[in-house]
Amino acid sequence: MKENAEKEKIALVTGASKGIGKAITLKLASMGIKVAINYNSSKDDAKETADKIIANGGSAIILKADVSNYDEVQEIIKEVDSTWGPIDILVNNAGIISDNLLVRMSIEEWAKVINTNLNGTFYCTRSVLRNMLKNRWGRIINIGSVVGLRGNIGQANYAASKAAIIGFTKALAKEVAARNITVNTVTPGYINTETVDILPQKLKDHILTHIPQQQFGEKEDIAHIVGFLASQESNYITGQTISVDGGLAI
Ligand code: NDP
Repeated sequence: MKENAEKEKIALVTGASKGIGKAITLKLASMGIKVAINYNSSKDDAKETADKIIANGGSAIILKADVSNYDEVQEIIKEVDSTWGPIDILVNNAGIISDNLLVRMSIEEWAKVINTNLNGTFYCTRSVLRNMLKNRWGRIINIGSVVGLRGNIGQANYAASKAAIIGFTKALAKEVAARNITVNTVTPGYINTETVDILPQKLKDHILTHIPQQQFGEKEDIAHIVGFLASQESNYITGQTISVDGGLAI
């Protein structure tokens, strides 16, 4: 399983302008990996991250695309290919919420979450897979959620999208295992990001009572495991769902 081990690696991280995606990007760059930073609306944040990586001697480019749009996804993947060559590591991180109780959930709220979180993962993966198969090496790391394992009130759309990513991961892992391509899902619990910052304090206190470690996680907790899954050292791990959640999913 050592084929292609020495090649300088190229990664695409979706939704990497802020939050967990940004931390993952910084981690991969610190491992000497060239990183393509995808953003949708936060160009300044993406550029700031790329500038930081380049100032530290790394390689980074920024690419605008809405991952729920297949044509835009194909465009950025072509752009990485023509700049550096084929993508070796894909991190499907871009994700949104649009919460509502199911009885009130609109078709649009359902569709936009599924289109971004699940279809975006499919579009990006499909677009990089052929080259990974050809090169006989690849890493696909999907960002799921504890909500995809346990469900959550008001998040049927989000839970469905994240649970589906786990099934997608297992099926694809079996399809591509013989070609040195691993496919895994990391399921974060509550991580200190804008998403969690904006929750009312009363709700945060309530959530903390359900987390065995009694604290929220840090973005870097996710970035570290993604870095490991992107490396040679994780060669024999595929199809897995790895929770990083302070024990919440136990
Ligand atoms: P943030 O809201 O902080 O960041 C979301 C990122 O996704 C942004 O960079 C945003 O880009 C990008 N994004 C959103 N929609 C699109 C799109 N259509 N196309 C491309 N990029 C898009 O999210 P987090 O860092 O909190 O979450 C990252 C991932 O981790 C998500 O998949 C989320 O579901 C998952 N997660 C997060 C948890 C948490 O506690 N924070 C817990 C469990 C899972 P831009 O701003 O440029 O539009």
